[in-house]
Amino acid sequence: MSIQVLKPKFHVEECLEQIRECLEIGWTGMGFKTVEFEDAWKTYTGHSNAHFLNSATAGLHLAMQILKDQGEWNDSDEVITSPCTFISTSHAISYANLKPRFADVDEYLCLDPVEVEKKITSKTKAIIFVGYGGRVGQLDEVLKICKKYDLRLILDAAHMAGTRVEGVFPGTWEDIDVTVYSFQAVKNLPTADSGMICFRNEGLDGIARKYAWLGINKDTYSRVSTQGAYKWDYDVEHVGYKYHGNSIIAAIGLVQLNYLDEDNAHRRKLVSLYDELLKPNVNVSSIPIPYSDECSCHIYTIRVDDRNALLQELAKNDIYGGVHYRDNTEYDIYAYDHGSCPKSHEITKNIMSLPLNLNITPEMIREIVKIVNKFTFCRGE
Ligand SMILES: *Cc1c(COP(=O)(O)O)cnc(C)c1O
Repeated sequence: MSIQVLKPKFHVEECLEQIRECLEIGWTGMGFKTVEFEDAWKTYTGHSNAHFLNSATAGLHLAMQILKDQGEWNDSDEVITSPCTFISTSHAISYANLKPRFADVDEYLCLDPVEVEKKITSKTKAIIFVGYGGRVGQLDEVLKICKKYDLRLILDAAHMAGTRVEGVFPGTWEDIDVTVYSFQAVKNLPTADSGMICFRNEGLDGIARKYAWLGINKDTYSRVSTQGAYKWDYDVEHVGYKYHGNSIIAAIGLVQLNYLDEDNAHRRKLVSLYDELLKPNVNVSSIPIPYSDECSCHIYTIRVDDRNALLQELAKNDIYGGVHYRDNTEYDIYAYDHGSCPKSHEITKNIMSLPLNLNITPEMIREIVKIVNKFTFCRGE
């Protein structure tokens, strides 16, 4: 049986039961389960606002567009982010006609506050902090910089579903303007594709709801449930988008949320086992995790000299690792910042992700590490 780097595990019968409810009452769109899921997410995390979307990519775009409109930023004003992220983060800045500028990462593969400060110019308006692998990194220090220079902070929490710091969800920290979670198929809270945008400010949450629904100032559900005959009577205030989530996907989210803490605890156990078994191997190192007993542990990243060879060796054994991520400034579209983040550039050549998901057993990890240790020791000799 092959072992995948990331693979969702669903509570199938419970999900089908929730979906059945949508089908039976004939409501599969926005409203109903999406509202239930937003409420459940707010209760779980402590966010005061949450709007369910069809992806985190959409959420990051909305965050940029709304903050830009509210702050009256100009086209080509700059937003600083990490080059060690999924391309969605960088694209979200571009979608809003802003310019991504990349700052180097620290030992956690999160933005390094010292490097961030060096990249601030008169055009800098905001920072997108990416919680790599669920890590909070030095988010607290980056927030201090935001305060000092009056910059907005967007938390790309795509990996952070369930991450806490001393019992608190870091996305809810004061001074964070907006946090965006992903519930894409291989994230810690898997649905199929969806995400959640959590603005601190209630007014901005209201704007997000309009922007996510084509700019229409009343949603279909409230028009049906409270306005009856006047459901056609809405205004369109912006050229908005079709970004909201739907009830079928929210139904899956509602079920999976019940298992998120349990699932993350299991991930942490697997991570500890990897760490323990790889410790004697001097040719492999892992990326440190701050507050490791509260981290979502979305991926298990190692550093190894020839990661391409190791990925191939594992593939020969029907075990599939991954690379999270390539330095974004290596991509043609962001090459204007190529070379501006030497540490990220070096590290991203050597990192790879070993399989970590809810289908992985301790036995599989022993098997995987056996291959990793054998291969990397041989090559060292
Ligand atoms: C997955 C991911 C996204 C995008 O999430 P989607 O829900 O797939 O749009 C954004 N940022 C990071 C760091 C991710 O890993």
